Amino acid sequence: MKYIQQAVELGKLSGNGHFTQKCQRFFEERYQIHKCLLTSSCTDALEMAAILFEIQPGDEVILPSFTFVSDAIAFVRRGAKLRFVDSRSDHPRIDETKIEELITPKTKAILVVHYAGIPCEMDRIISLAQKHGLWVVEDAAQAIESQYKGKQLGTKGHLGTMSFHETKNIQCGEGGMLMINDPKLTERAEHIWEKGTNRAAFFRGEIDKYGWVDEGSSFLPSEVIAAFLWAQLEKIEEIQDRRKMIWEDYFELFTNDLPTPQVLEPDYFEVLKKVKFKMKNEWGQEILNSFIPNFKFRANGHIFYLLFPDLPCRTKYATDLKNKGILAVFHYQSLHKSAYAQKHFPEEYVRDLPNSDRYSDCLLRLPLYYELSNI
Ligand SMILES: *Cc1c(COP(=O)(O)O)cnc(C)c1O
Repeated sequence: MKYIQQAVELGKLSGNGHFTQKCQRFFEERYQIHKCLLTSSCTDALEMAAILFEIQPGDEVILPSFTFVSDAIAFVRRGAKLRFVDSRSDHPRIDETKIEELITPKTKAILVVHYAGIPCEMDRIISLAQKHGLWVVEDAAQAIESQYKGKQLGTKGHLGTMSFHETKNIQCGEGGMLMINDPKLTERAEHIWEKGTNRAAFFRGEIDKYGWVDEGSSFLPSEVIAAFLWAQLEKIEEIQDRRKMIWEDYFELFTNDLPTPQVLEPDYFEVLKKVKFKMKNEWGQEILNSFIPNFKFRANGHIFYLLFPDLPCRTKYATDLKNKGILAVFHYQSLHKSAYAQKHFPEEYVRDLPNSDRYSDCLLRLPLYYELSNI
C-alpha cells in the first residue's frame, strides 16, 4: 500500500515509470538478462514474442499440448499453424525427443514451458533450434527463481516470458514480463511494447521526437501494478523459502514415514494420510511423481502434484478433499484435443499424445500458497 501511495504521489501513473523501471532492473541484474519489459500479462509477452518472430499465416510453431491456452492463442492470432508435442512420460514438460520429427520448412519457432518450474532440457532444445534456424521462446510463467544449470529459466531462448498473475509465486493480480536475451530484438521489442512507437527511446532522451515506427499494442502495465509488484520483489526470498518449505513438507509426507503432526489442520492431515496409505498399498509409487531431472537445476516450489492412476480415482480424491474444505485442482486439458483444435487444426486433433492426455486426466495439485499453515 505504501508503494502504491508513493506511485500516486509521484504523479505519473501510466506505464514505464519509476516502479516499472525498478522491477525491470531487478530482473535484469538478478538474472543477468539483456532487457526486461513489464507487460500486463504473460499472454501479452507471448503476443509480443509472436510479433518479434514475425510469424506469418502458414508458419508453423511447435509447442506442448499440455499447457495453458495463452501459448496457443498468442501465435494463432498471427495465423500460425500449431504443431503439438507430447509430454515426457515422467513429467508434464515437453518431450524434447519428439520435437525434431515435427520440424518442416515452414517451422518458425519452438515454444517450451517449464511446467511447475521444472526446467525443460534446454541444451538439447537450443541445439535443435540452431540446427534448423528456429526461434526459441521459453514460457517461464511458472518458473520464477528456477534454474537450469545455474541460469534462471527463460534466459536461454531468444525470448522468455514470465507471469505475475495471482496464481503465481510472485504476483501483482495481473502482470507479466518479456525477457529479451537476443540483443538484436531489443529495439523492436520496445517499439512493439509502446504502441509501435519509439517513445521509450524518446523518454531516455535518445531522440528528440517520437513517432510510429512498427506494429504493436499497449502492452505496459500501469505504475500502480508495478508498485505492488515491487513490494513482492522485495520479499522474494521470504516468499520462495516459504513455498519451498511447504513443497518439501508435502514431499516428506508422501515419501517418508508420516511425521508427528503439529496439527494445525487436522482434517487436512487425515485426508493426506489416506491418500498416502492408498499410494503405498494399492497404487504403488506411481501416484507421487517424485521425478528429479538428471541435470543440475533449482526448483521453485510452484506446484506440488499427485498423479493418480485414472480419472475416476482423481475425481474421488479431489471430492474427498473438497468435502474437507480443501481445494485440490487438476490442470490443463490437452490443447490438441480442444474444441478450437478440432475446428482449426483437425490433423492435430486426431493425433495420439498419450502422456499429455494422462496428465490432463490424472494430475491433481495440492494447495500451495504462502499463507498455508504447516502440516
Ligand atoms: C499462468 C500461465 C500463463 C498465463 O499468464 P498470464 O499472466 O495470466 O497471461 C501462461 N503460461 C503458463 C505456463 C502459465 O502458467
